Amino acid sequence: MAYQCPRCGGLVQRGSSTTAGVAGGAAGALLYGAFGPLNCNHCGKIAKSEFPPDVQRKLTLGSIGMVLIAAGLIAVVITLLVVFQK
Ligand SMILES: [Zn+2]
Repeated sequence: MAYQCPRCGGLVQRGSSTTAGVAGGAAGALLYGAFGPLNCNHCGKIAKSEFPPDVQRKLTLGSIGMVLIAAGLIAVVITLLVVFQK
């Protein structure tokens, strides 16, 4: 998933955090990606409000999708824990 930088026109990617990944596993990394700042290779961190409205809509939809995936992962982990405790 890549977006265009509103400042330089380059590629912008969702941020990733190793710390969030270690603390919360895949779900933590996904949630950080969904709500964290976006990164441009040239300009650094870009706030969502700097993007044009139609891109902001896509970003929000993408975030919701990532949250759903994270929730699904958490549900699977909890289910597995419950199943293996019996
Ligand atoms: Zn840029």
